[in-house]
Amino acid sequence: MPSDSAPEKPEKILILGGTKEAGELARDLVSKGRDVTTSLAGRTKEPAPVEGKLRIGGFGGAEGLAAYLKAEGITRVIDATHPFAKTISANAVKACELAAVPLDISTRAPWQKQPGDLWIEVATLEEAAAALPEKARVLLALGRQHLDAFSGRTGCHFVIRMIDPPETPLAFGSYDVITAKPSPDPDEEAALFREHAITHIVARNSGGEGAYAKIVAARAMGLPVVMVGR
Ligand code: NAP
Repeated sequence: MPSDSAPEKPEKILILGGTKEAGELARDLVSKGRDVTTSLAGRTKEPAPVEGKLRIGGFGGAEGLAAYLKAEGITRVIDATHPFAKTISANAVKACELAAVPLDISTRAPWQKQPGDLWIEVATLEEAAAALPEKARVLLALGRQHLDAFSGRTGCHFVIRMIDPPETPLAFGSYDVITAKPSPDPDEEAALFREHAITHIVARNSGGEGAYAKIVAARAMGLPVVMVGR
């Protein structure tokens, strides 16, 4: 007998990405035969390859994202963005309400301080800059857009790790740039700290495993970590 009910919409998943976990999620869902599109903001020049479909660039606020969800027939959104990416997460909540699409939140929990951790816990990047002592040799393991708070901090040497090299010289008095991703191996992170005679690490409490090796290495070496909370 023919059914009167409307045919069920095929599932179309949008992952808001930009993290290792979002990539893993896409791989898992695609391997199960799901229709998955991952969205990236477009901050990284050469993003890691992603399974499924990929779109790059902002949507134009919550309204723009809601319009995209409707136009593309998205049936589920998964927010797997970085925990410090607050605007896109807030936009996702609003857009999913506007477009009546369910939202799953899959952002990481923060790291918890472990015995042996020497954390100086601060709330902002500016407080982190102020917390550094004179003559400190500091690993800044932060994105390009978070460096400005440290550029006026004199009396310290900064070792700045970036994924893409800076296009123009940085406005720091004394610094070196390392163009590399964080290593997942605490021993490699410890070797880097020794090579650059690092005395302090500045990190944001991002959670997850991808960037945790530096925290483990700092614990093993008894180095203080200025930890910026969420
Ligand atoms: P944000 O401040 O929350 O977002 C700023 C704007 O960028 C958003 O309003 C949106 O533009 C666009 N945007 C952000 N994420 C997007 C995505 N996945 N797809 C499409 N557009 C996106 O974000 P952010 O802190 O600049 O981070 C940008 C991206 O980098 C995020 O996807 C995040 O997962 C990743 N990431 C961030 C950090 C971090 O520390 N913040 C670290 C590692 C990776 P429209 O309003 O035009 O839509």
